Amino acid sequence: MSDEGKRIDGKLIAEDVVAIAKAHTEKLVATKGVVPGLAVIIVGEDPASQVYVASKGRKAKECGFHSVQHTLPADTSEADVLTQVQALNEDAAIHGILVQLPLPKHIDENKVIQTIAPEKDVDGFHYMNVGKLGTGDVSSAFVPCTPTGSMILIRRVLGDDLSGLNAVVIGRSNIVGKPMASLLLSANCTVTIAHSRTKDLEGLTRTADIVVAAVGRPEMVKGSWIKKGATVIDVGINRIDAPERGEGKTRLVGDVDYQDALDHAAHITPVPGGVGPMTIALLMGATITSACRHADFETPDF
Ligand code: NAD
Repeated sequence: MSDEGKRIDGKLIAEDVVAIAKAHTEKLVATKGVVPGLAVIIVGEDPASQVYVASKGRKAKECGFHSVQHTLPADTSEADVLTQVQALNEDAAIHGILVQLPLPKHIDENKVIQTIAPEKDVDGFHYMNVGKLGTGDVSSAFVPCTPTGSMILIRRVLGDDLSGLNAVVIGRSNIVGKPMASLLLSANCTVTIAHSRTKDLEGLTRTADIVVAAVGRPEMVKGSWIKKGATVIDVGINRIDAPERGEGKTRLVGDVDYQDALDHAAHITPVPGGVGPMTIALLMGATITSACRHADFETPDF
């Protein structure tokens, strides 16, 4: 079945978010003389992390930000990483600080994250921001970028009023599942969080007007689990073997069986090209938002 009219084009919507961030940056610079600054700390040489950090740096420059990267050797002590974070906390040119995870095992990740000044915590992992989101203070919190981006995709297809819709979030991680559920709850959805111990996941998912899958299991959610007309947001990114493309080749799939789900869903995100591009776009969104708050300037609306 063709996905025409059903596919939520995350790549296109992410480009729109970046364009808004860029235009707002120009306004902020012209009005207040403030250039948004994003600093990324990376410890060690994990190749996947290097790729992510490089693309964040490129996107930041594209938005007109001041972008800095601190690459520390894998054997950097925890104390030295904390010192680096504290220096960035005090640096007036920096409005967003991001520590690329995972960190080497000898460093306590949580200690590092909780050292980031909450008002520069663009990833939204500091307890202050987690608490704000949990108490419904969404407008002044920093919320993790993947669920924020997923919410924008939902609103682009369903509009702003999500009141009373049943939402099932599959996955309860602190990075995706839990903040996603909080955002949907703040938008007046009736929210259920499902996880590895949930009974009758299939039946539960079938009650949902909005399904968000954030599990990390290739094509686990089948078409028959999806209610007719539901909106499906597939956060999962899974690399599987693709012998049909040649020996040793692989391809990316989501947590939802896309072709199967097309028969049931009204709107669905593909993998790749759905939620993925939104995550980095919303990191730019959080950085310009932080700079605007700092400069007492109107924040952008994505
Ligand atoms: P995680 O491993 O921290 O959490 C997975 C969750 O899935 C857990 O809460 C677990 O309870 C639940 N789960 C596991 N098996 C299950 C089952 N059989 N039935 C129901 N629930 C089950 O993962 P995460 O960090 O939340 O990421 C989830 C997926 O999203 C991964 O594929 C990850 O790569 C992807 N991801 C994508 C982006 C993006 O930008 N698109 C960002 C973050 C994560």
